[in-house]
Amino acid sequence: MKRHFPVSLPEGYVDFYNNLETWQNEQQIKLKTTCSPTEIDVLKVLVSSNKPVIQSVNFDIDTHQYEIIYQGLLMLLNDSRHQIAGELDKILEKLDQLDFKLLPIKFLEEDQQYFSDLSARLDIPIELLSFTVDHALRPFLRLWAEPHYSTLAEDESRSWSFAPVCPFCGAQSNFSRLRATDGHRFMFCEHCFTEWATQNIYCVHCGNDNPNTIQYLAVENDDAYQIYTCEECKGYLKTFDERKQSEQTDLFIANIETIYLDMLAQEKGYGNHHND
Ligand SMILES: [Zn+2]
Ligand SMILES: [Zn+2]
Repeated sequence: MKRHFPVSLPEGYVDFYNNLETWQNEQQIKLKTTCSPTEIDVLKVLVSSNKPVIQSVNFDIDTHQYEIIYQGLLMLLNDSRHQIAGELDKILEKLDQLDFKLLPIKFLEEDQQYFSDLSARLDIPIELLSFTVDHALRPFLRLWAEPHYSTLAEDESRSWSFAPVCPFCGAQSNFSRLRATDGHRFMFCEHCFTEWATQNIYCVHCGNDNPNTIQYLAVENDDAYQIYTCEECKGYLKTFDERKQSEQTDLFIANIETIYLDMLAQEKGYGNHHND
């Protein structure tokens, strides 16, 4: 079924992300044949370190394979994003100036300084640089995270308490789903596809659980998609309520498709992070 959007998204926007996700899946399948992630006792690591798993283990990815995937991503972008062809050519010309060993590390460390220096030195927009480094890394992250999906989602002892941050890769999430069977809430990481449970009436940004100051907004005719807002910190969380829609939904695409909810929340003065 083709979803009907309350606002019109830029032409080709959702298709682009669909293609990107399909391509990333293919890369992940290919990677699986040649590399096997280290075995990790994720809950033990979480409890003992209190940090996302990726920061405690030796996330040792093959630099050469990362470079190949990075170049493949540039090709994909070149085919679908003609507006930025000039910028992409510039990256291609300067590939030898990119340190493929360091890029994923700096990205995971969120080292803004490194990326702004690199962007200035190569004269490539920082957003494009981060986007390419980020999306080329995702097949590796997902390959590493995949064996732990159910352990992390079904962790009854709640070994992880920093709700908006992915317990596996450390990325910030602003998207959750309410499970069809029981309405339980799971946060979703669009980087590594890990899910983890949180309370239902709860602000993931500040920890507020007072039902009087947590509200939800939905747009007309689209009540499977909601925004939970918090009056304490003015944070918001997008949510897909599986109970309101019978079909299986790809959460990565659902997050992309519902950009109008982000606009709506931001228009009303709500933000993504606790210190917005
Ligand atoms: Zn993650
Ligand atoms: Zn809050």
